[in-house]
Amino acid sequence: MTSRAMGEQDGKRVLVAGGAGFIGSHLVDALLARGASVVVLDSFLTGRRGNLAHLGREARFEWVEADVTRPLPRLPRFDRIFNLACAASPPHYQADPMHTMMTSVVGTNHLLERAREDGARFLQASTSEVYGDPEVHPQTESYWGNVNPTGPRACYDEGKRSAETLAFDFERVHRLDVRVARIFNTYGPRMRADDGRVVSNVVCQALADEPITVYGDGEQTRSFCYVADLVEGLMRLMDREEAPGGPVNLGNPREMTVAELVALVSRMTGTRSTITRRPLPVDDPQRRRPDITRAQDLLGWSPQVPLEQGLEATIAWFAQEILTPEIRPAE
Ligand code: NAD
Ligand code: UDP
Repeated sequence: MTSRAMGEQDGKRVLVAGGAGFIGSHLVDALLARGASVVVLDSFLTGRRGNLAHLGREARFEWVEADVTRPLPRLPRFDRIFNLACAASPPHYQADPMHTMMTSVVGTNHLLERAREDGARFLQASTSEVYGDPEVHPQTESYWGNVNPTGPRACYDEGKRSAETLAFDFERVHRLDVRVARIFNTYGPRMRADDGRVVSNVVCQALADEPITVYGDGEQTRSFCYVADLVEGLMRLMDREEAPGGPVNLGNPREMTVAELVALVSRMTGTRSTITRRPLPVDDPQRRRPDITRAQDLLGWSPQVPLEQGLEATIAWFAQEILTPEIRPAE
């Protein structure tokens, strides 16, 4: 059961689409801890029931199994809707690219319509991928991006760009209260061992003393944000009285190369792993770092958890995850 901390969400009815996933499940915990009633709507495409199993019979929580690309099930009215529904890891979102695109376009449209009917506040989980392989560094919200619209990442990148377009059209046309978070690479407990992204791959490979896969020369950069920091940013963005009018970057500005991340994880795990090179995936962005000035100004938010501390918790998570791959609640 969750404890009630600050109570800002008392009585609010909140829908979290994609709430069984990595970030979504942490968001659900934070909402419940602050007094909200939460409905998770998820198809369990990449999310897991185990991520919410600790909630047991919590009275303020329920889940609904549904795919957002389909007409939404009948549910009582919501005050707030978070849309996190969409596979986020390249191997997962590329497995069925048409479905990924439809999830962001048709699915977001369904949720926006629902928010309009309910008069609910709406938050869209967008992504740094809207900047593509950026020519502007670090990335500010005013940069329009450099996305290949026909490549293998496009189903995700262009889907998310379209979702942003729809959200801001609903804001302009229907006066919907819309917030858009451009989330940069986020990591932490409840990531899946088979997620395919760099933090989960490297940590799991290091723990198993298996070769660590570095794509390309490892000189490409990313900026990694711990999930608790990210969730705090999402909460503040949703709670802000006035809609910001435009997207807000949420991420950790500490930038590092993939090779540096591998060296850090190797040191922290004491692994005997060697490094194995793989080809750089098509359209893999070379550099990525958020400019978070806007989040700092509007939300008073900046990440608090140092990478080493976040990695420690993540390594501990994967150590137990590898031992017990999934803890499923009784159905
Ligand atoms: P995740 O894959 O763990 O979570 C996504 C959730 O959405 C899963 O529970 C999945 O089952 C569900 N889902 C997918 N398609 C669906 C559909 N059609 N209908 C209903 N449910 C569906 O990924 P995550 O890392 O938790 O990401 C959550 C959100 O944040 C995503 O929208 C993602 O694009 C965005 N984001 C994440 C990151 C990151 O680094 N993790 C970075 C940028 C943006
Ligand atoms: N990457 C890597 N080894 C892996 C997985 C990913 O070197 O096992 C690289 C990948 O090519 C990219 C970076 O790490 O340059 C981050 O990849 P991830 O899939 O985590 O996120 P994204 O590319 O979506 O930012």
